Amino acid sequence: MYRTHTCGELRASHINDSVTLCGWVQKTRLLGGMTFIDLRDRYGITQLVFDDSKNPQVANKAQELGREFVIQIKGTVIERESKNKKIPTGEIEIMVNELIVLNKSEMPPFTIEDESDGGDELRMKYRYLDLRRNPLQKALALRHKMAVEIRNYLSNQDFLEIETPFLIKSTPEGARDFVVPSRMNTNEFYALPQSPQTFKQLLMVSGYDRYFQIVKCFRDEDLRADRQPEFTQIDCEMAFVERDDVLNVFEGLTKHLLKVIRNVDYTNDFPRMPYSEAMELYGSDKPDIRFGMTFNNITDLVKGKGFKVFDDAEYIAGICAEGCASYSRKELDKLTDFVRKPQIGANGLVYVKVNEDGSFKSSVDKFFNQEQLNEWATQMNAKKGDLLLILAGNKKKTQTALCELRLEMGKRLNLLDDNVFAPLWVVDFPLLEWDEESQRYHAMHHPFTSPKPEHEHLFDTDPSQINANAYDLVINGVEIGGGSIRIHDKELQAKMFKALGFTDEEAQAQFGFLMNAFKYGAPPHGGVAFGFDRWVALFAGMHSIRDTIAFPKNNSGRDVMIDSPSTISEQQLKELQLQLQVLK
Ligand code: ASP
Repeated sequence: MYRTHTCGELRASHINDSVTLCGWVQKTRLLGGMTFIDLRDRYGITQLVFDDSKNPQVANKAQELGREFVIQIKGTVIERESKNKKIPTGEIEIMVNELIVLNKSEMPPFTIEDESDGGDELRMKYRYLDLRRNPLQKALALRHKMAVEIRNYLSNQDFLEIETPFLIKSTPEGARDFVVPSRMNTNEFYALPQSPQTFKQLLMVSGYDRYFQIVKCFRDEDLRADRQPEFTQIDCEMAFVERDDVLNVFEGLTKHLLKVIRNVDYTNDFPRMPYSEAMELYGSDKPDIRFGMTFNNITDLVKGKGFKVFDDAEYIAGICAEGCASYSRKELDKLTDFVRKPQIGANGLVYVKVNEDGSFKSSVDKFFNQEQLNEWATQMNAKKGDLLLILAGNKKKTQTALCELRLEMGKRLNLLDDNVFAPLWVVDFPLLEWDEESQRYHAMHHPFTSPKPEHEHLFDTDPSQINANAYDLVINGVEIGGGSIRIHDKELQAKMFKALGFTDEEAQAQFGFLMNAFKYGAPPHGGVAFGFDRWVALFAGMHSIRDTIAFPKNNSGRDVMIDSPSTISEQQLKELQLQLQVLK
């Protein structure tokens, strides 16, 4: 072994011990005749001392060390004169009597400290150096701990972890597939799984009634901060279950993780909120219920009173920001600019201040009198000192914009505490969504999701009204996972494909294997999949999933470190019998 201890291990109890340490040089300081070095490994930092008067040769060598040199030292643990309370090894230091340079390092392109001076792109290019930084090491350790806990928890409940293939045929999760050409089957392509959906259902047919897998999924979609082209799911499926059985098992897992990872005792049942209520009250299917400030629909109260913006609107709703009547003109202008940003998309913002003396001051004083404003305030449960913020327009768009405004106000009022966790299940999603562009229905979740049994008859009359037996787990406004009870009957599955606009032949060509399997005794089943990267980010208090993935891609889907995607050689193309033709 190169070392007797790690750089995070030594304490006052080790004083006078002879030790050997290895690590990277984080910092060198010269003070009088002494050289101090912070030696780092993934366990911590230990201070080394080199005394010029006692051991000039070693001290001279130490002064030549550059940042990130890899060294091995032998020395004695001594008590530190000026103790550092901030680090666990802060009571001691090592008086070094032997130094070996294991490897030199060029000057790193950015500082390898908690707050680095390197920009995003540079740190991505040198990801192996960025990964030496403490916040990333902590996030990856947390990720590992969560994976272990998940595996143990589910294994203890008789779940089997079973791998499924990566080279498959398209799975319909609503994104584009990544495809892989086959050399042995000319002109044919594999698709990388968007999820193991069909395979886990086949495993249920095969009798593996409790399955899980921590697994990579691949989706070729436009990227945002919380998306990566390849990401990890905790994918689960169970047979002989109804919705509540699935929710209970995974509520148990969530509570367990809250306890062991964040030390949060969550003993109540998670709220279960229908999709329609989530949209009405929060304008989102992933409501952040850490705080209230829910929507008030005032369409009926304010429409048709001669104010054109309201009169032309399909939907008018607002939120009541407690204690914000004191907002200045400037602050209100800022909020108006906020809702007008293209990503938010509202045309304007109407405000009503409920003054301390009971009077009202609004941006629509010309159109509405005090009595009317009083009615609004009553309907919106406003108290003296509150501020009503109201948006109007197309229903869906206005709900989305008001949702953003609510979150913005939550932020301003410090209601979004990273250490508070507010989980809930959103249930009863619509089964289908109408897509104007293609003029057909899309599955809101995926085509294997079963309708609520009482809605099955609507396939023949009004499919848009069918609710799905589907559910999402949402924590603090983040969609952590989702799933459904599946269709296990081949007739119903055929009906679903038909509603989605597949001909019998198309359905057979794409999903024949599943429909066939359903002929041979498919048990009732259902499951769920959780976005593991997101869940780690949430529990690590990080706002980007990138920080929880060792080697992530940038926003254009590139790995700038290995420079991928990249062209392939003529020889490779030839083997695949492919010729490139760039289409304009
Ligand atoms: N396969 C689904 C997804 O990736 C999850 C599920 O329905 O279990 O979203």
